Amino acid sequence: MSAHDITCRELVEVITDFLEGALPVEQRDLVERHLAMCTWCATYLDQMRHTLRVTGQLREDDVPEPVLDALSHLFRTRHTHQGDA
Ligand SMILES: [Zn+2]
Repeated sequence: MSAHDITCRELVEVITDFLEGALPVEQRDLVERHLAMCTWCATYLDQMRHTLRVTGQLREDDVPEPVLDALSHLFRTRHTHQGDA
């Protein structure tokens, strides 16, 4: 633990930039270090990566229901998360 560690909330805020490769190297390094020790965020990253890939390639009416479920679950989780924090 150090002042340079980021929190789960900070990771969620930059995850899109991280996936797009838009993060500065310094921040990217912090995210990767956090992912190495946080199962929740590692799982979250997997879901985001999968969701972006799927929604980026398929038309809306081609998205299978399980993906839509996962998406709405993600949004619900994020709102709950913010409320708790
Ligand atoms: Zn985390």
